[in-house]
Amino acid sequence: MRVAVFSTKAYDRRFLEAANARFGHALSFFEARLDAQTAVLAEGHEAVCVFVNDRLDAEVLGALAEAGVRTVALRCAGYNNVDLRAAAALGIAVVRVPAYSPHAVAEFTVALLMALDRKIHRAWARVRENNFALDGLIGRNLHGRTVGVIGTGRIGALVAKAFRGGFGCEVLASDVARDPELEALGVRYVEPAELLRQVDIVTLHCPLTPETRHIVDAAAIAAAQPGLIVVNTSRGGLIDTAALIEGLKSRKIAGVALDVYEQEADLFFEDLSNEIIQDDVFQRLLTFPNVLVTGHQAFLTEEALDAIATTTLDSLARADAGEEMPLRLSLEAMHG
Ligand code: NAD
Repeated sequence: MRVAVFSTKAYDRRFLEAANARFGHALSFFEARLDAQTAVLAEGHEAVCVFVNDRLDAEVLGALAEAGVRTVALRCAGYNNVDLRAAAALGIAVVRVPAYSPHAVAEFTVALLMALDRKIHRAWARVRENNFALDGLIGRNLHGRTVGVIGTGRIGALVAKAFRGGFGCEVLASDVARDPELEALGVRYVEPAELLRQVDIVTLHCPLTPETRHIVDAAAIAAAQPGLIVVNTSRGGLIDTAALIEGLKSRKIAGVALDVYEQEADLFFEDLSNEIIQDDVFQRLLTFPNVLVTGHQAFLTEEALDAIATTTLDSLARADAGEEMPLRLSLEAMHG
C-alpha cells in the first residue's frame, strides 16, 4: 500500500522502515504536520499515517478523500484530533494503536512524579554547577500518601498497581468502569470530585472527551487538599492550565508534572530553542520551581516504537487486502 507518513521524525522512520521489511508497503516520509495546507502531499497515496498533533478535521479529511486516501492510520492511542463522524461520512477507515505499550507511559508517569517530588531535576542542575547544597531539595516519601488515579484503563491500572503494591500508597480511583483486580488490591473507586477532594497526588489517565475536558479546573483545585500534586501524561486538555497556574501562585498546588499541554500542538516535537515562544501561559508554567514539563515523550521507548510500527503496518496490510481491521475506530468509540 502507498502510505504518506506525516510528522515524521528520525525515530519514526527508523522503526517504520525496520518493521516494513515484513510488510513491503511503499512509505513516503514527510516531516510536515498534516493540516489543510499539507494534505495535498497525500496525493497518490491510499493511506496516511499520522501522530497526535496532526489535524484530521472535516476539512483535512475532505482533502484527503479527494487525494484518494481511504485509510487513516494513527500511530498513537488517543484520537481526539480526528473527526470520526466526518471520516465515516467520507468512507475513510481510521485505525489506531490502542495498546502499544502501556508500561512505557505508566513507568514514565511514576518517573516524572518522583523526579518532581524528590526534586531530581533541580538537584541535577545544581550538581552540574558544582553546587552540592541540599537546601530546598527536601522531598516527601510516597509511602503512606494518597494517590488518585483518574482513568484505570491499560495505563492507569499499571500506575495504580505501582503506587499501591510498589510504594504502599493509599490509592483512590475514578473510572466509568471498575477494575475488580485493582479493587482486590485495595484500590477504592470514588466519584472524580470526591477523589480530587481527598488525594495528595492526582494522576490523569482517562481519554480527552467532552466529559473529561478540564476535569482539573478552578473548582476542583479550590476543593482539593492544600499541597496537591498534579500529574498529567494523558492529554493536555484534561487540565485548565490558567486555573493550574492560579493554584500554583496561591500555593494550593505544591507541584505539577506534565508530559502533555493543552496547546502543545504549537510547541512539542520541534526544536524551538532559537525561537521566541509566543505562548505566555506555557512560559509562565516553566517559571515555577515546582513544575516539571516534558514534551510528550512518555510513549518513547524502544519497545513502544517497535509495537507502534508493527501494529500500524499490519492494520494497513489488512486494509490493503480488504480484510477486517480489528483496531478500526467506530463512531461509537467517540463515546466509549
Ligand atoms: P484506555 O482506553 O485503556 O483507558 C482509559 C480509561 O479511561 C478507561 O478505563 C475508561 O473507562 C476511562 N474513562 C473514560 N471516560 C472517563 C471519565 N469520564 N472519567 C474517568 N475515566 C474515564 O487508555 P490507555 O491506553 O490507558 O491510555 C490513557 C490515555 O493516555 C489515552 O487516552 C491517551 O490520551 C494517553 N496517552 C498518552 C501517551 C503519552 O505519550 N503521553 C501515550 C499513550 C497514551
